[in-house]
Amino acid sequence: MPDAGGMPDYGHPLRFGAFITPVNSPASQPVRLAVLSEQLGFDLVTFQDHPYQASYLDTWTLLSWVGAQTERVQLSGNVLNLPLRQPAVLARAAASLDLLSGGRVSLGIGAGGFWDAIEAMGGRRLTPAQSVDALDEAIEVFRGIWDAAERSPLRAGGEYYRVAGAKRGPAPAHEIPVWIGAYKPRMLDLVGRKADGWLPSLPYLEPGDLPRGNHLIDQAAATAGRDPREVTRLLNIPAGQSADDLVRLALEDGISTFIVMGDDPEGLRRFAGEVAPAVREQVDRARGQRGTQPPGRVRNSTALARRRPGIDYDAVPPSLASRAVEPGDAGYARYTSSYLRGGAPGLVLRPQTAAEVRDALAVASRHRHLPLGIFSAGHGLSGRSLNDGGLVIDVGALNAIEVLDAHSGRVRVGPGARWADVAQALAPHGLAISSGDYGGVGVGGLATAGGIGWLAREHGLTIDHLLGVDVVLADGTLTQASATQNPDLFWAMRGAGANFGVAVGFEFWAAHVGRLAFAQFVFDASDTAGFLRRWGTAIEAADRSVSGEVILGARQGRQRYAQAMLVADSSDPDTIVERLQPIADIAPLLDHSVALTSYDQIMTSLLSEAPQQGQGEPHSHSGLIRHLTPAFGQAAAALLDARASYFFQIRAVGGAVSDVPSDATAYGWRDANFSVAAFGTRASGLDRWWETLTPHMEGMYLSFESATGPEVLQRAFPREHLTRLRALKRAYDPTGLFRDNFFIDPAAVDSAA
Ligand SMILES: Cc1cc2nc3c(=O)[nH]c(=O)nc-3n(C[C@H](O)[C@H](O)[C@H](O)COP(=O)(O)OP(=O)(O)OC[C@H]3O[C@@H](n4cnc5c(N)ncnc54)[C@H](O)[C@@H]3O)c2cc1C
Repeated sequence: MPDAGGMPDYGHPLRFGAFITPVNSPASQPVRLAVLSEQLGFDLVTFQDHPYQASYLDTWTLLSWVGAQTERVQLSGNVLNLPLRQPAVLARAAASLDLLSGGRVSLGIGAGGFWDAIEAMGGRRLTPAQSVDALDEAIEVFRGIWDAAERSPLRAGGEYYRVAGAKRGPAPAHEIPVWIGAYKPRMLDLVGRKADGWLPSLPYLEPGDLPRGNHLIDQAAATAGRDPREVTRLLNIPAGQSADDLVRLALEDGISTFIVMGDDPEGLRRFAGEVAPAVREQVDRARGQRGTQPPGRVRNSTALARRRPGIDYDAVPPSLASRAVEPGDAGYARYTSSYLRGGAPGLVLRPQTAAEVRDALAVASRHRHLPLGIFSAGHGLSGRSLNDGGLVIDVGALNAIEVLDAHSGRVRVGPGARWADVAQALAPHGLAISSGDYGGVGVGGLATAGGIGWLAREHGLTIDHLLGVDVVLADGTLTQASATQNPDLFWAMRGAGANFGVAVGFEFWAAHVGRLAFAQFVFDASDTAGFLRRWGTAIEAADRSVSGEVILGARQGRQRYAQAMLVADSSDPDTIVERLQPIADIAPLLDHSVALTSYDQIMTSLLSEAPQQGQGEPHSHSGLIRHLTPAFGQAAAALLDARASYFFQIRAVGGAVSDVPSDATAYGWRDANFSVAAFGTRASGLDRWWETLTPHMEGMYLSFESATGPEVLQRAFPREHLTRLRALKRAYDPTGLFRDNFFIDPAAVDSAA
């Protein structure tokens, strides 16, 4: 794009690379040069690709090897030989290496040459016109494979590379740029229409080729509705090119990436030590004088076409723009599924600091017409951390875990950490925080709602271990809430936190926890009502060191199984047996195992590292109940017999949870000894059957409830709590910015008043 002085400088950041010959004798040579290049500060290492050349290493294998030997430097073919590299497979390989290398791959590609050699290797000879069409198809295939967010199978290509229903993915770690090595007008037209970069070699250019090429590319880009700045201009240059030459090429021909050819370590050293800094200095100075603006992140037209209505994308502040994820971006697949839900947000902001959370909330407050999700680790049931067409603030990067004082157990944890990570970080200090039963759940969602975990009866809820929390409020203020600072807010954050702000840091006191037992029992629960009654009695009578849950499903034939998982916090086998035996005796035991283990091992064993794949909306109900009475047992058995729930879970609370006075935290149902959760579907009649259970309940735990709406709030909080929460909502979030997780409407008339 011509700058104010009429000269092309697209404003891209200057980068320097090495062009290394992939010789295979000695095979270590190109690797050594690549490692040296990284040490010298080069931004990228590139290798030519001649798969028919017996004296060369295979370039793709070499790239993978170099990726493993380096840490920072970008990797690319310069350029890969398309006729001998099947595009769908190449796309998958590039995505794989991008994931393995932490987002360091670029796809330099060329249409081919040396056709006799290509034919000798089984490749197909193409005319120049055919080569352009083939590369055009290949680019569609690359991007189609990388578009893991799109769920339909990939159909792309045509005459040269027909892909007929390929599985997409994996999504690369970053948006892999496609750079084309091109010289002729038709190929330059393709660069303008589709590529992310133009990569010619200076020795093959005639005077005037660069401006002519830029002009053709810019024209083609503009005709295709693209911003010419989407196309980075790269250039292979011979070693020995002077800094002045390169400055001219940068300022007059728009070249921003110089890749120095030659396999001489001294040449690389000289270039990195003398030429590159001189070019950088002069170009920066000239750009400063001209007022050249860096283009920021330029999205291609395909990505722009996927933007959702009602979002002012240009208003995203620079602090967040570079990490923001939009529907057309490579990282978007992460936000199309959480653990239980599907999603299609219009914009994901990924702050890394509390200040950036404030910036993100400023964007959110200008988009009140859209849903707003706060995303920590994506396990929300009540909370909609994903949405359709709205904003999502992903606090996953705020995931630090710090032991402040191992003796007293004071720890600081970011909302983006997962509980398995917390358990692992605390284990070497002999510490644990009772969180939930599943290691993948996020700190942000659970520690603002309650936290019913494996040590609940012994150590209470997660929120009972909270000493303080740093919160960014709706108006952007970063504040602290603790027993002494903003105690009202601290009260609200422990049970209704999602309504009051974005928690950006938690301080907990962790308990000293040693070896303990993890037991799994499978019971015959065909006498379901009787089983539930006996389960309730046995758990209430058990030592407080015993906590856990039982899960029931539909009958199989006449039989119904109940699967129980229990923790007994003791390392003494006799004590463990003594505490668990009364529970094991309540019904015919079909299978059992008891292992001596540790809290962190339990949390990490119940964890999947696979990408989340939730789709649709979960349908669940929650209730808190004091005792599993015969009447409750009969109602629950009838619900299960009607197949209204495929997953019916009863967790132990009580014990230390009940030691905390009801009015101490927003979570108020402290008398309950059990939390009941039922997952089903609308079609299974769950709602209707659940109504038969609610008369036995005294409230509910909002983390297991998928319904929303004001009537749900009446059950989630005791009446006085709800009155107080409404008053606090009016003080802290009067306009209702946080409304996507059990919205406490500040304007609602308080029925209790
Ligand atoms: C497999 C599974 C097992 C579970 N086991 C347990 C369990 O044993 N015990 C238990 O108590 N719960 C359990 N839960 C429920 C879980 O605690 C909640 O769903 C919790 O909200 C998930 O937190 P997250 O950060 O992973 O979810 P996300 O989906 O990321 O967030 C859910 C909601 O929490 C709120 N939120 C998230 N981060 C913040 C933040 N930083 N500040 C303010 N609000 C925030 C938002 O409203 C958001 O919509 C389980 C859920 C699943 C799916």
